[in-house]
Amino acid sequence: MRYAETGFNLEIDLSHGSIDRVESDLELTKLHLGGLGTSARILWDRVPPETDAFSEDNLLIFASGLLCGTPAPGSNRTIVSTFSPQTQLLAYSMMGGFWAPELKHAGYDKVIISGKSPELVYLWIHNDKVEIRDASHLRGKGAIETAECIRKELKDPEIQVAAIGLAGENKVFYASIEQGRSSASRGGIGAVMGDKGLKAIAVRGTKDVNVARPAEFMGLCDDVLKYIKFRGENPIPGVPAILQGLGSPQEMAIHDEQWHTTSFMWGNARTRRKDFWTHEIEEKWRATQESVRTRLISCYNCPMKCGATISVPGQPTYMMKCYSKLTYTMAAYSDLEFGFRIAQRATEYGVDGFSTPQVMAFALELLEAGILTDADFPGMPADVEGRFFWLLDRIVRREGIGDVLADGVYWAARRIGKGAEKFDHNTIKKHEQLPLKLGMLNPVYYLMYSTGEKINITQIEGQFPQAPFPTMEEREAFVKDWFQVPDDKFKKYLLEWEPRGENSNPLYPSVEASCDIVDWQEKMHYIDDALGICAGLSSFPLKPPYHIHNFPKFVSAGTGFQFDEAELWKAATRNRTLLRAINVRRGMRRADDKPPEDHWKKRFPDLEKKLLDAYYELKGWNSDGIPTKESLLELELDCVAEDLEQRGIISHGQD
Ligand code: SF4
Repeated sequence: MRYAETGFNLEIDLSHGSIDRVESDLELTKLHLGGLGTSARILWDRVPPETDAFSEDNLLIFASGLLCGTPAPGSNRTIVSTFSPQTQLLAYSMMGGFWAPELKHAGYDKVIISGKSPELVYLWIHNDKVEIRDASHLRGKGAIETAECIRKELKDPEIQVAAIGLAGENKVFYASIEQGRSSASRGGIGAVMGDKGLKAIAVRGTKDVNVARPAEFMGLCDDVLKYIKFRGENPIPGVPAILQGLGSPQEMAIHDEQWHTTSFMWGNARTRRKDFWTHEIEEKWRATQESVRTRLISCYNCPMKCGATISVPGQPTYMMKCYSKLTYTMAAYSDLEFGFRIAQRATEYGVDGFSTPQVMAFALELLEAGILTDADFPGMPADVEGRFFWLLDRIVRREGIGDVLADGVYWAARRIGKGAEKFDHNTIKKHEQLPLKLGMLNPVYYLMYSTGEKINITQIEGQFPQAPFPTMEEREAFVKDWFQVPDDKFKKYLLEWEPRGENSNPLYPSVEASCDIVDWQEKMHYIDDALGICAGLSSFPLKPPYHIHNFPKFVSAGTGFQFDEAELWKAATRNRTLLRAINVRRGMRRADDKPPEDHWKKRFPDLEKKLLDAYYELKGWNSDGIPTKESLLELELDCVAEDLEQRGIISHGQD
């Protein structure tokens, strides 16, 4: 008997219309845990590196995490992975909500989609009954509207639906997959779903998910819930409001947006408005938010309520969480009321809330600079809000200039030419980033931006404070109950970190400390993404309820395999290295590991070289960022070593 996982995947070949229930390999669970880990292994084994994102041979994998569907609080992540049309590298994106637990209860850990359907279809999974159904009547419908139609059609309001909107159908490179209260947005995974002719996957499951040692497992869950309550009553002092508690950034609950609106850039990641936040704005935005937010909502089995239902007069209700509240507002130099209005349409279209506003701001900058002209925007309104709606409508339909912009800033700039490339100043590896432009290089963030396989900073940071505390008293107070650290050296790093002087950015945290901090942060994300735990309760916030000391107990009591801290750390290292190898095999190298050039005003090339060298060494990679044969064998990734060797990417005795 398998515990925590079901031990079965659904294999759907849309070219042939075949559906197979396939038992998964228990040994791979022991090596990679589940979720992103085992999905990455499937992508490594089955998708040759030459495969284009829009090839029939590309796979689109919907995975539940190993602990999804168990009583572990916040274990609800669906991890969608494939190859990105925008970067041609691995794309993986997570969504909360209820979909992954429902899939587990239907009796499956993953849905692996291959091939392409000639007609638009949707997948209906109802326990053992699985059907590919006609979706021609859903063509052109919004993602949320599609979910409602399917629930009505199948006469069950409990069905969980992951769907694409018009953007996914039209293969917009930053199309998302929406699931009611959550979305998997980054990397263009919705475009791959559209390319496969798959409008939605609807799931209903009523089976049990078993855990190996239930009493022990429930005791661990109780401890997590008690700690969540404690942290709710004891916010962390001395950090911005948004970082004081647990969960996704509590954008739906809080009104104070001083930090985002004055630190992040407006327009095409261009202008910082340090004096934007005034009492008047705060009162106006508070009134707007309270008038449209109908209630706060949680994901499956989580008390945190990070999301909200939003009802803008005259528009259908939709759900929102996190920073998408501000992305359209700030890109358009507009206000919050506009942000809530356009986000409703964008959610139905199914587009990424980070990339989309930036692409539109980029287009308007090109118009202002005379690189694009009025002839490129026939009929576009004169006001900026009208322009954003107009552009959004054209992008998702790939009409006119919208077709160019639908490929994202990097590709659009190159198609437009005439100097447009200079306006592409906020992408990494062809992917839009958070609109941040700062003064002094931060060594920890330099490494995360440069090397993260997720290729965006969202959801790869966390655990370690983003800035030093001004006084030693504050630092001592912070480290006093910091039991989540994997090693006491992290307390020392924080105690020694000063806002100014020798022990401040960019020289501190030191090269060694910066590598250690990034290593810890990303390992925790790799564990979450394999187990399906929400980063909001684990790798993202300061002092979370899940950490390296209790995760092995959850995995052991859940699955029945014995995992200690060292083994879990090693599994996370293995997954991190495997993802690197996947991208390396597709051509990624050291030259690609860099942040946007103007992310920091003050750059330090020698220090940056040292940081990258030391990080690669810590990871067991060579000086070009390629995992060494020795490190691959040490991590039991022999098949990866063999393949890279056969391709001449690594050789015996390499550096
Ligand atoms: S912490 Fe927030 S985003 Fe995470 S599972 Fe809970 S409600 Fe969902």
